Amino acid sequence: MINQYSKTPNFNKALNEILDNLKPHQKICQQCQNVFDIFAEDIEFYKMLQVPPPKLCPECRKQRRFGFYNNILKFYKKENTLTGEKIISTFSPDSPYKIFDLKYWWSDKWGGEDYGRDYDFNKSFFEQFQKLNLTIPHPAITHYWKGVVDNPYSISLLNAKNCYFTNLGGYVENIHYILVLF
Ligand SMILES: [Zn+2]
Repeated sequence: MINQYSKTPNFNKALNEILDNLKPHQKICQQCQNVFDIFAEDIEFYKMLQVPPPKLCPECRKQRRFGFYNNILKFYKKENTLTGEKIISTFSPDSPYKIFDLKYWWSDKWGGEDYGRDYDFNKSFFEQFQKLNLTIPHPAITHYWKGVVDNPYSISLLNAKNCYFTNLGGYVENIHYILVLF
C-alpha cells in the first residue's frame, strides 16, 4: 500500500515491490551465518511497519538493539555531566556519553535546540549523528514521560508510580521486579 501523502514515494514503491514478492523462506544471517526463518506473520508485520525484511537473525538483531540502548535493568554509578556527582544510570562510567539526572533532563532549564547544528551533505549521516549523540546530554535513565521520577532502578516507563526494578511498563503502579525482554 502506498500512502498518497508519503514524502518518499520512490522508496515506498521499491519497498512495496520487495514486500509484495516476499514469501516465507529461510535466510542466512549476514553476521553469524546462522539460518533463520521469515514466516508469513513476519511479512505481514513488515508490511504493517513499512520496513524491509531483516538481513540479520533475531539473536544478532537483539545484540544490536542492546548495543544501542541498555533497557535490561543493568545500572551503574556515573558522573552527572552537570555536577560531577555520581548518580545511578544505565550508562557505564566509561561510556563517553554525557548524562543529566532525570529531573533536570526533563526540565526547561536546557533545550535540545542549544545543540542544534546544520546538516553537512558532504559527510556521512552516521558520522554526524554519532558526533551529535556524543555532544547532547542523555537522561541518566530513559523514561518516556517526565512524570516518571520516583521509580528507583527502573527504566523505560510511561506514566508509572511507585515501581521498583522494572522495565518497559506503561500506566502501571506498584510494580516490582519485572523484567521484560524482547
Ligand atoms: Zn545472526
